[in-house]
Amino acid sequence: MNTPSALSSSFDARTDATLRMLRESGQYKHLQVLDSPMDAVVRMRGADGRHFEALCFCSNNYLGLANHPEVVEAGIEALRAYGAGTASVRFICGTFEPHERLEATIARYMGTESSYTFVSCWTATEALFPTFCEPGDVIISDELNHACIIDAMRLTPVIKKGVLKAVYRHSDLDDLERRLREAQDNEECTGQAWVVTDGVFSMEGDIADLPGIRALCDKYDAKLIVDDSHGHGVMGRTGRGTHEHWGMLPGGDSSVDNAQADDIDPLRAVDYFTGTLGKALGGGAGGFVAGPKRGIELLVQRGRPTLFSNALPVTVACSANAAIEILMREPQRVQRLKDNVAYARARIREAGLEVLESPTAICPIIVHDTARAIAMSKRLLEKGVFVIGFGYPVVPEGHARLRVQISAAHTTEHIDALVSALRSL
Ligand SMILES: *Cc1c(COP(=O)(O)O)cnc(C)c1O
Repeated sequence: MNTPSALSSSFDARTDATLRMLRESGQYKHLQVLDSPMDAVVRMRGADGRHFEALCFCSNNYLGLANHPEVVEAGIEALRAYGAGTASVRFICGTFEPHERLEATIARYMGTESSYTFVSCWTATEALFPTFCEPGDVIISDELNHACIIDAMRLTPVIKKGVLKAVYRHSDLDDLERRLREAQDNEECTGQAWVVTDGVFSMEGDIADLPGIRALCDKYDAKLIVDDSHGHGVMGRTGRGTHEHWGMLPGGDSSVDNAQADDIDPLRAVDYFTGTLGKALGGGAGGFVAGPKRGIELLVQRGRPTLFSNALPVTVACSANAAIEILMREPQRVQRLKDNVAYARARIREAGLEVLESPTAICPIIVHDTARAIAMSKRLLEKGVFVIGFGYPVVPEGHARLRVQISAAHTTEHIDALVSALRSL
C-alpha cells in the first residue's frame, strides 16, 4: 500500500508535469487582471504591475448592463436591506422576497409560466437533468453544446442508473432524427426523450434551428431544452433569445421570415430553458431554469443543488432583476447591439479577415493556427485591444480563432479602433 507521502508526491509530480506541458506547448492560460468595472473600456494590470486601459472585446457584457448605475444601486440597496449572504439553502430559510421577485421577472421576460434561480447556469443544468430524467429516458445532445450540458449528461446516469445518452452532429437535423429513431427502436428506452441544444453556440457564434428541432421533437414526442446563455438579451427584436429570433415567443414577432413558426404553438415551442444571469443580463451572476410550473416545482422539491447548495445572494438577485427590467424597458439597447454587430462584421470583412457569419454578437475571426491566434491576441493587447485567441483543444486543430464579442456599450470609434488594430497586425 502507498504511504500517505507517496500518494501526495504522485499528485504533486503529475501536476507539475501537466503544468510544464501546458507552458511548453503554449496552452498555459495567464489570467488577465482588471482593476475597473466591466465596460467597453477596462483598466487592466500589466505583467510589470502597472495599470493600463484597453478596449474590451471579449466580455459577455452584450448590453453594457454590468456597470449600469441602476443595476449597481439595486445591489447596494439589497446589501443594506438584506445583508451579505443567505446563510441557508432555499427550502430551509434561504428564500427571500427578491428571489421570488427575480423569478417572476425572468418568467415574464422569457414568456414562461415559471422560473427558478441557481448560483450559476452550470448549477441549473446540473440540477435539471438528473432531476427531470428517470431510468429509460434518453438525453440527445448537439455535439457542440456547452461543457455544462456535457457534464450534466455524464452525471445523470451516475445519479439515476438507466438514463441513456446520445449525441448528434452539430446542427445536423438528419443526424438528430437518426438518434431519435434509434431511441424509438431501443427496448431500453421506455421513457421520455429529451433533446438539448444551445440557442447560440459560444465558439462558432451560430444559432440552433429551433423550428426544425421542434418539428422533430413533435414527431418523436420528445421534449426540447434550450440553453440560451449567449442568446438572452441578444437574439430577437426585444432580446428575449433565440426563440424570439425564430418567432417562437408567445405573442411576439420574429427577426426572420419563418413560415414554420406559424405551425408551432409558442407556449410550448421550447419546453424548458436554461440560462445565465452573468452575460447580457449583466446583474452579476446566477443561472435559471424557466418553463412550465410542473417542472419548476419538481426542481424545488427534488433538485440536489436546490436542496444542498446555497441560494443566489440577494444582492445579486436584486441587480439581476434591475438588469432584466432595464432590458424590457429599453429594447433599443438590443437594436444598438445589432447595429454594432452589423457594423463590426462589415468592417472586419473589409479588412480582409475571415469572420464567421451569423446574427449573434460573437464574431469569430478564423486565423487557423493556434500559435498565431495566441500571438495575435498578445499583440492586440499591446495595442490596447483586449481579444482572446482560442486554439486547440478548445476548438478543432486548424480552426484557431480570435473571438471578438460586440457590446451595445461599444461606440463606432471603439469598433474602428479594433479594426485598425487588427489591420496593423
Ligand atoms: C456561459 C455559459 C454557461 C455558464 O453560465 P454560468 O452562469 O457562468 O454558469 C452555460 N451555458 C452556456 C451555453 C454558456 O454559454
